[in-house]
Amino acid sequence: MEKTENLLDKIVSLCKRRGFIYPSAEIYGGFAGFWDYGPYGFALKNNIKQLWWKMFVADREDMYGIDAAQITKHDVLQASGHVGGFSDPLADGSRFNTMFRTSAGAGEDAQTAYLRPETAQGIFTNFKNIVDSFHPELPFGIAQIGKAFRNEISPRDFIFRAREFEQMEVEYFVKPNEWMLAFEFWQKKMHEWISAVGIDATKAHELEVPDSERAHYSKRTIDFEFDFPFGRKELYGLAYRTDFDLSNHAKASRVELSYLDEETKTKITPHVIEPSLGVDRTVLAVLCSAYFEDELGGEKRVVLKLKPAIAPIKVAVFPLLKNKPELVKKAREIFTDLKIAIGAVVFDDNGNIGKRYRRQDEIGTPFCITVDFDSLENGDATVRDRDSGKQERVAIPDLATRIQKDS
Ligand code: ATP
Repeated sequence: MEKTENLLDKIVSLCKRRGFIYPSAEIYGGFAGFWDYGPYGFALKNNIKQLWWKMFVADREDMYGIDAAQITKHDVLQASGHVGGFSDPLADGSRFNTMFRTSAGAGEDAQTAYLRPETAQGIFTNFKNIVDSFHPELPFGIAQIGKAFRNEISPRDFIFRAREFEQMEVEYFVKPNEWMLAFEFWQKKMHEWISAVGIDATKAHELEVPDSERAHYSKRTIDFEFDFPFGRKELYGLAYRTDFDLSNHAKASRVELSYLDEETKTKITPHVIEPSLGVDRTVLAVLCSAYFEDELGGEKRVVLKLKPAIAPIKVAVFPLLKNKPELVKKAREIFTDLKIAIGAVVFDDNGNIGKRYRRQDEIGTPFCITVDFDSLENGDATVRDRDSGKQERVAIPDLATRIQKDS
């Protein structure tokens, strides 16, 4: 099992060839910084988001999920500091604000707006709504998964630095003196996530960001970095944002954004811990961790050793031979049943079995089921494991359970 040279080129090419990720507007020469996810990439990305939602939101009692508007009112981003400060230096020394500006409405009613540069602000502006509707007790979090847009001066390294990307963010509200505990809790959770999603933990590193390099709003930041093929780069961030955002929005909107502490009967402005995770950087780190070129049964292959939970296809069903109607019929019956039980299942009768295995290995399908003549006699089929190549015979009625056991 070996890692390969030019890993990024190989991943980019596999993604295009096998329907994971395409350059956006490719028939018009492409569009720097924009990428379109194809069927397998879309499925992989959705599975990653679902796993994150489960671990960070759905399995917990202290989390509230929202889906805020992507086009953001000028006032919001003025108060958050983005209008004045969300900029990168240009070669000539001037600064370029990397927000995409647009306008909402026609004629005299038109007002300046922005495509949100992060999902976080939609959370802060809904803080009062969540408190009023749900009366949560501190600590609690509001979470959101959604698109973010940054007019990056030089988009590069495939989906690592894009102009349109997705984030998974939590703003976790705490009593000011309890921030350290929450920070350490989310640090551990992010560490757990890295392994759960299938990112090679030996290539992930936590970097305590020094005072001089932290964002203006943060009193402590840890960058989670990953050894990408183009170097060690930021994968995720964990920041202690103090009460910076709530205080600034309260000041600018003149709406009180506080929380009544029942114990002391005093109003406080909660402080915030923010785990911020990029979906696309997760996809890339997962692909870099899962891509292997190895040899199985004397044949070279490319394999994506994806965790079954995030694999775009969970199982492929094959009749041993295409021209034997009884095999095809049995295989289609199994396929139909599994499709109901598992969902992400494909049927393939094209080419020899070896080729079909290679095709599924390349997209990371954890299991392949083959129906042969013994299946018709004995009512079982072979289940082949992607990573080891080992095959076992499983009774047809037990196939779904067998596959679900390991996914
Ligand atoms: P960088 O320093 O790499 O530009 P950042 O510090 O500006 O990143 P944050 O503002 O902390 O990034 O954004 C949170 C997360 O959003 C990042 O950790 C990353 O996963 C993701 N992200 C940020 N910018 C991009 C981008 N241009 N393309 C893809 N993902 C991004």
